[in-house]
Amino acid sequence: MIALAIDIGGTKLAAALVDSALQIIARREIPTPASQTPDALEAALRELVMPLSLRAQHFAVASTGIIQNGVLTSINPSNLGGLSHFPLVDCLSALTGLPGVALNDAQAAALAEYQQMPPAIRDMVFITVSTGVGGGVIHDGQLVTGSGGLAGHCGHTLADPNGPRCGCGRTGCVEAIASGRGIAAAAQGELAGLDAKAIFAHAARGNAQAVALIARSARTLARLIADLKALTDCQRVVMGGSIGLADGYLPQVQHYLAQEPSAYQTELCSARHQSNAGLLGAALWAQGHLQ
Ligand SMILES: [Zn+2]
Repeated sequence: MIALAIDIGGTKLAAALVDSALQIIARREIPTPASQTPDALEAALRELVMPLSLRAQHFAVASTGIIQNGVLTSINPSNLGGLSHFPLVDCLSALTGLPGVALNDAQAAALAEYQQMPPAIRDMVFITVSTGVGGGVIHDGQLVTGSGGLAGHCGHTLADPNGPRCGCGRTGCVEAIASGRGIAAAAQGELAGLDAKAIFAHAARGNAQAVALIARSARTLARLIADLKALTDCQRVVMGGSIGLADGYLPQVQHYLAQEPSAYQTELCSARHQSNAGLLGAALWAQGHLQ
C-alpha cells in the first residue's frame, strides 16, 4: 500500500508517497498560499497532490489546527488564517478520488517519534516549538486525539496570566511567550522587528537581550514540561520544531527543568524526523485507521 501523505503548515505544504515500510519514495513542497482562503488552499492542494495521487491507494493528512471528523479549524487564526471550518478530508477525496484520514500535525509527529521508542516507553509527549508551540500525547502506547481533536495542544496552556495576548484568544499562553513569534514580539530596541532566527544569531554572538529572550522561552518550556509530567506521567518528552532543535536550546530547557522538584523531571530528547515527522505520522495513522 502506498499512502499519499500531506502536511499542511503555516508556511509550506508538503506531500509525499510513503510505502507501508514508511519509506518516502517521492516528495514535493510548495508555499502555503498567502491569501489562506478555502479556495486558495484547495487550489494549492490540487497543484501539490495531482502529480503524486495516481500512484497512491489512500491519502493521509497532517495539518496545523484542530482536526475533528476530517474538518480543519484553525485554533490560532494567525497560524492559518481564514480557515474556520475547512472540510479537509472531503476536499482531498474529491481531488484524488481516494479514501483518507486527517489528524493534527503535532499529533502526527508524536506518532512518528513514538514509533522508534523502545517498548518500555508507554507514555510520551512530543512538543514542537517553532512559529507556534504544539504537542501530541502518547498514553499507554496510543496517541490521544480527544473527542474533539484538541488533545495535546499544550502551546495554549497558561504560562503567565499577566503575559501577552495569544492569537487563540487567551492571555499568556505558552505559545505567546515561548514560540518564535512570541520571542520576536517581545524584542525591543536594537532587536525590535527581527525574527526568531535573527534573535538566535544575536544570542550566539552574546547579545544580552537576545540571550534573555531565549532563556525566557526555554524557562517557559521547562515549566510546561513539568506540568505535562504531572498531568500524564510521561516517561520521555521529545522536542522538535525549528526552535526546539536550535543549537543550545534543549540544554537550556534541561537546565530549567532540573530546578523543578524531582517528581516533575522527565527524560528530554530531540526529535529524529524533523521536517518529515507530519508526513510519516499521518501515513502511520492511516495504516491503523483506514482498514
Ligand atoms: Zn493560545
